[in-house]
Amino acid sequence: MTDNSQINGSFDDLLSANREFAQSFSLSGFDGVARAGVAIVTCMDSRIDPLGMIGLAPGDAKIFRNPGGRVDNSALEAMVLGVHLLNVQRVLVVPHTRCAMASASEQQLRRRIGESAGQDASWQSFHVISDQLDALAQDVAKVRSHPLIPDTVQVGGFLYDVDTGLLTQHR
Ligand SMILES: [Zn+2]
Repeated sequence: MTDNSQINGSFDDLLSANREFAQSFSLSGFDGVARAGVAIVTCMDSRIDPLGMIGLAPGDAKIFRNPGGRVDNSALEAMVLGVHLLNVQRVLVVPHTRCAMASASEQQLRRRIGESAGQDASWQSFHVISDQLDALAQDVAKVRSHPLIPDTVQVGGFLYDVDTGLLTQHR
C-alpha cells in the first residue's frame, strides 16, 4: 500500500488521462538524448507547441521553458548539458509575439499579481523585457559565447508569431 497521507489536491482527471496515455506509450527504454539534435529555449506560453512548430515529436529535442523564453543561467546549464551529453547540435531561442513578459512593465505585473494575491508583491521580480529583439540578440550571444558551448553548435534566434504559427529568424 502507498502512504497517501502526503498526497493533496485533485488530480484524478489528469491521472486518469495518464493511464490512457501509458497504454500506447512508445518511449520505454529510450535513453533521453535529443534524437534530432535540437534544443529549444522558449516561453511557458500555452499557445506554443515547441515540438509541433518545427515538425518534431517527443524524443527529438531538449526543451527549456520560462516566462519570456529567456536564456538565463538555468537555460545555459541546460544547453551545456544538452550539447555535451544529450546530442544537441542546434539551439533555437524562441520568444514570441504578444508575450506578457514583453507587453507589461515590471510595475504593472507587480500590481496585477499583488491584486490577485491580495498582498504586496513589490518584492517579486519578473524580468520583464523592454525590447524583445534586443533581448533575443543578447540571449543568442550568451549561448554562442559560452565557454563550454563549442562553435560547431549552431545557435539561432527566432520570433514565433502566435497568430500565424510562423517562425521568423532574426539572429
Ligand atoms: Zn510569453
